[in-house]
Amino acid sequence: MTLTLPHYPMPDDRGRFGRFGGRYVPETLIPALDELDTAYRAAKTDPAFLSELDRLLREFVNRPSPLYLAQRLTDHAGGAKIYLKREDFNYTGAHKINNCLAQALLAVRMGKKRVIAETGAGQHGVASATAAALLGLECVVYMGAEDIRRQSLNVFRMNLLGAEVREVTSGTSTLKDATNEAIRDWVTNVRDTFYILGSVVGPHPYPAMVRDFQAIIGEETKWQLRAVEGREAPDAIVACVGGGSNAIGIFAPYAYLPKDQRPRLIGTEAAGEGVETGRHAASVAGGRVGVLHGSMMYLMNDDEGQIVPPHSISAGLDYPGIGPEHCHYSETGVAEYVPVTDAQALEGLQLLTRLEGIIPALESAHAIYHAVELARTMRPEQVIVVNLSGRGDKDVAEVARLLDVPKDAPTVTPAIQKPAIQKEVLA
Ligand SMILES: *Cc1c(COP(=O)(O)O)cnc(C)c1O
Repeated sequence: MTLTLPHYPMPDDRGRFGRFGGRYVPETLIPALDELDTAYRAAKTDPAFLSELDRLLREFVNRPSPLYLAQRLTDHAGGAKIYLKREDFNYTGAHKINNCLAQALLAVRMGKKRVIAETGAGQHGVASATAAALLGLECVVYMGAEDIRRQSLNVFRMNLLGAEVREVTSGTSTLKDATNEAIRDWVTNVRDTFYILGSVVGPHPYPAMVRDFQAIIGEETKWQLRAVEGREAPDAIVACVGGGSNAIGIFAPYAYLPKDQRPRLIGTEAAGEGVETGRHAASVAGGRVGVLHGSMMYLMNDDEGQIVPPHSISAGLDYPGIGPEHCHYSETGVAEYVPVTDAQALEGLQLLTRLEGIIPALESAHAIYHAVELARTMRPEQVIVVNLSGRGDKDVAEVARLLDVPKDAPTVTPAIQKPAIQKEVLA
């Protein structure tokens, strides 16, 4: 079986999904984006590119990732069957590697010797550095000073992999500022440099290209579900949304089905301490339309158009916007976006860990929480697929802090006592 990349509808000739997307970039980048678009369209149908990508996805990333029936979680909810698409099994622990590897392979094909990337928590930086090491590319990762301080282990990982991490001290010294710096680098070094963008955001063709590279998640789900349930489409799909790449990856094969065959597609946004508090990262529920990082989308901005710093318990959802195709899905009713708070995500994480022995990433825990709530409202013959975007090892220390486990807690007796799904932990 050789990989074929799906041919979902592309954005219009201005790079827009409905009124979202486009290319709001300096003039100097337009030829580079055109070059990338042309190279991507050619690679998409080139058997040599596809068979190399296919081999790496299987042998390096560990695909296909399993579709797992979470029986005890299902029993707990007492409604629809809950399946988990296990992207946490991927090498480097999340879905991001699917996209990084494909873009790095495209960089090689385009003759670029150097790749750059932006990173917040370091997940996309580590995945990019991994792909660069594998393919022998020079790699520079832009990271905010504040994030460098919080994620020193990931900085060291990137260094071990041979990448240079450049500290960004402008603005709030976080992800959006690192992205601005990466775009600036690209403008300067566009001839020999490929920009590996980490989600379905940025100027056209990135949102469509990243979607196509992540769509393997949904394409596998189709045949895996057919094998166990006798049908390709579940009744609902739930995925967490930062920029939106893991969600688009599992939505895409279903989003263009006729309405009566389409499952409910639900993205969970990080509602942080509550959308009403302003301390959140829910761009659909609490944002408005604006331009960031070259693209028109729902954004968290104030009356002056300034970006409000986002907040979420999970660093991966801490982005002040949501990709243009999601904005279009939201506006046209193809998908729904629901807010899930920090406390609810923490509850979702504990629930899945206790009931299934799977520690999910805090990002994915937002989707788990909502899926359980949703399953309760559905019938036992109905099916929900949750995209388990990543594993939670990276979050264990943070969870211990949030659950207020004392540093000197005895290590033999469990510090967190039985079913205590602690609702008020963040109060
Ligand atoms: C980065 C990350 C996300 C958020 O990114 P998307 O582009 O919205 O998918 C979600 N889950 C995990 C585990 C991540 O590392």
